[in-house]
Amino acid sequence: MILLKNCFTLYTDPADPDLVPLTDIDVLIEGNRISKIGKDLTPPEGGGPGGEGSGTVQTIDASRCVVVPGFFNTHHHFYQVLTRNVPAVQNAKLFTWLVYLYEIWKNIDEEGVLVSSQVAMGELAKTGCTCTSDHHYLYPRGFAADLMGLQFEAAKKIGMRFAPTRGSMSLSKKDGGLPPDSVVQTEGEILKDSRRVIERYHDPNPLAMGKVILAPCSPFSVSKDLMVETARLARSYEVRLHTHLAETKDEDEYCLRKYGKRPLKLMEEWEFVGEDVSYAHGIHFEDEELEFLRQSGTAVCHCPSSNMRLGSGVARVKEMLERGITVSLAVDGSASNDASDFLGEMRQALLLQRIRYGAEALTVPQVFALATRNGARVLNFSKLGRIEEGWGADLALFDVHRLEYAGSLSDPLAALLFAGVNHQSECTIVNGRVVVERGKLTGVDEGELTEKANRIAARIQKIG
Ligand SMILES: [Zn+2]
Repeated sequence: MILLKNCFTLYTDPADPDLVPLTDIDVLIEGNRISKIGKDLTPPEGGGPGGEGSGTVQTIDASRCVVVPGFFNTHHHFYQVLTRNVPAVQNAKLFTWLVYLYEIWKNIDEEGVLVSSQVAMGELAKTGCTCTSDHHYLYPRGFAADLMGLQFEAAKKIGMRFAPTRGSMSLSKKDGGLPPDSVVQTEGEILKDSRRVIERYHDPNPLAMGKVILAPCSPFSVSKDLMVETARLARSYEVRLHTHLAETKDEDEYCLRKYGKRPLKLMEEWEFVGEDVSYAHGIHFEDEELEFLRQSGTAVCHCPSSNMRLGSGVARVKEMLERGITVSLAVDGSASNDASDFLGEMRQALLLQRIRYGAEALTVPQVFALATRNGARVLNFSKLGRIEEGWGADLALFDVHRLEYAGSLSDPLAALLFAGVNHQSECTIVNGRVVVERGKLTGVDEGELTEKANRIAARIQKIG
C-alpha cells in the first residue's frame, strides 16, 4: 500500500484542457490500483488487499511534486542502446544508417538483449514512463534463447509495464531488402514464434504487466505474404499490430519502384490497417492518406527526436489531431534519438510542431494526450492513462520545487514541458510498486548496469 501525501498539484487527466488540478491532495494506492483521492487520507487499519507491499504502508511526501499519470512509450528498439551515436553514422539518413548498423547489430547476443532492455526501460522509468513497447525485429542466426523472454525478465527487474512487439524481417539483401542474410528469418519461423510468444506472454487483462503485439519491421524488409499472414494471426488472437510506415521519401520510392504503389496503399491491400494497427513515424502522408487513416481508425506513433536526428521530416501531427486520428508518442530506438528521455520527448513534440505550423500548433494538454490516453489506447490498456479511483496505479511525480523550475509555477503542468533541465522524475510508480525513488531506479544498481552496458557495447562494436 502506498500513500502519496500532500501532492503539490495533481492532474487526474492532464490531456483535458478544462481540467481543474487538485492541490494539497492525497492519493491512496492499494494493491495495483488507485483506491482513493482526497484530503487528509489515512490508510485503513491492517493494510489493504493483495499486491505489492500488502499490509505495510509506504508514505511518500509529494508536497514538492507535480503528479501525473505515467506515460506510454509506443515505439522503441532497446537493443540499439549498444550502438548509440556511433561516429560513422552520426550524420547519416535512415537507409545509410541502417545498412551500416546492421553489420554491428548482427552480433547482438543474449546478454546484449537483457542489458540493453534494462538500460532503455530504466531511462524511461526515470523520465516518467510507466508502460513501454519495444520493436525487436532482429533475430541473428544462432541466437537460440527466448528473446522476448529476456526482455520480460528485464521489464520485471525494472518494474516496467511492457507491451513488446514480435518484430520480424524476411527480406535480406539477396531479395532486394536492406538487412544482411544473417539477421532475417523465414516466414515459417516468424509465424511460429509469433504464435508462441502470444500464447506464452500475452495477457488480455486491462492491467496486464505484459501484452504482445505483432510487428513486421517495414514494407522494405518483409514480404506481402508475411504482412498478410501476420495480420490474420494477430486478429485470430485479438492482439494488436504495428510496423514502421511513411518514415522517409526513400521508402516511398522503394515501394513505388517495387510494387508501383505508395506505402499506405500497400498496407491497405495487405490488411494492415484498422483500429488495432499503429504505424511508427507516419511522416510522409498525403491529404487523402490522412483521411484514410481517420476513416480506418489506424493510429500513428510520433517520434519527433528520431525524425529530426535522421532528417526524415516533420510529421503532420497537428493536422492528424484535428482530423481525429489517434497519435501517440515514442522515443524510437536508442541509435536514432539517442536517449530514452520520455518527458524530454514530450517537449520535443511540443516544439517540433511549432516549426511547421507556428506557435499555436500544439498545446500542453495535447502533448499530454499523446503521452497518456492516446498511448494507452494504442497499447490497449483501457484502465490506464488517468489517475482515477479504481484505475491502475501508474503515476509519475516530478519535483518542481527545484532551481530549474523556479518562476514557472503559474502553470505547474506546463512547467514540465517548457522548463526543467534533466526531465527526471522524483518517483515513478508502476502497478502499485515504486520503481523510481528519489530519482533512482529501485530494481537495479544503476552504476553496475551502466558499466555492463558499456562493456558489451565496446565488444559488439569491435566485432562489427
Ligand atoms: Zn523504429
